[in-house]
Amino acid sequence: LPEQEAFDIEYWLLEEAKLQRMPKPKALAGRIALVTGGAGGIGAATAERMLREGACVMLADIDAAALDEVTAGFAARHGADRVCGVKMNVTDEAQVARAFAETALAFGGVDILVSNAGIASSSPVEETTLALWNRNMDILSTGYFLVSREAFRMLRAQDIGGSVVFVASKNGLAASPNASAYCTAKAAEIHLARCLALEGAEAGIRVNVVNPDAVLRGSKIWEGDWLDQRASTYGTDKDGLEEMYRQRSLLKRSVLPEDIAEGIYFFASELSAKSTGNIINVDAGNVQAFTR
Ligand code: NAD
Repeated sequence: LPEQEAFDIEYWLLEEAKLQRMPKPKALAGRIALVTGGAGGIGAATAERMLREGACVMLADIDAAALDEVTAGFAARHGADRVCGVKMNVTDEAQVARAFAETALAFGGVDILVSNAGIASSSPVEETTLALWNRNMDILSTGYFLVSREAFRMLRAQDIGGSVVFVASKNGLAASPNASAYCTAKAAEIHLARCLALEGAEAGIRVNVVNPDAVLRGSKIWEGDWLDQRASTYGTDKDGLEEMYRQRSLLKRSVLPEDIAEGIYFFASELSAKSTGNIINVDAGNVQAFTR
């Protein structure tokens, strides 16, 4: 090589090496996220992912004891100035409004909503009481409406765009046995997200959906009565259920809260700056959605 050219290459390599050693800016630095159901499995895994990327996170949950415990753990690991908890029932308009107001007070606004708080249920349709049906609709469909409405109000007022991520379910796309109330409520969440994507686009508000397949480990949903009902639908127990879901998936792998958190992080961050009204199924390729 001519001497000048060799010098230029060496100089460029040194500069590149310097850049590699420089600390990378965190992807969510300066961002503020509100995570509903933040004291639960997927919500807490999502909060952890976002805190690691530099975000400030408000955890909102109906379970005050779990909320205190999870918030204290995050505060110890990531700093008390970057995480707060607020007790909130997603079916209560006033509590939802207060949670957003408290987030604005603590951190200065909201850029990201993760609408995730939820329940699950299992019941053959002829045994499904109106109360069970309404509970699914209230917490899932209506709860997602109430928190996203409040997010839209705040995001529009801030006028800097934002990201809303719904944690729905693969069962919102595909039917599952003995779960008509849950499946229908989850389908409504998915369609609500599409409608809001349309409404928010001009203001730079993106709305996307992450559909988990069954996440048995690390989720409180699978504790108690629901688990027994679900297992008996398939004539098995919790371990048997997890193995069934694993075997049914194309990748033969179980899905964990951290896997769902990656999908949520993608939609929350600028990695998905040009995605809205879209869905990611985090399901290890569980083809049930496409076959029955
Ligand atoms: P989880 O039970 O561990 O967490 C859910 C959290 O939501 C809990 O902390 C609970 O206290 C909170 N919550 C429940 N009702 C509430 C209300 N009315 N107001 C505020 N908070 C409320 O369950 P998870 O697995 O982390 O579930 C998170 C979301 O993922 C839910 O919407 C669920 O339907 C969905 N999902 C879960 C699975 C799964 O197999 N775990 C599969 C598909 C979809």
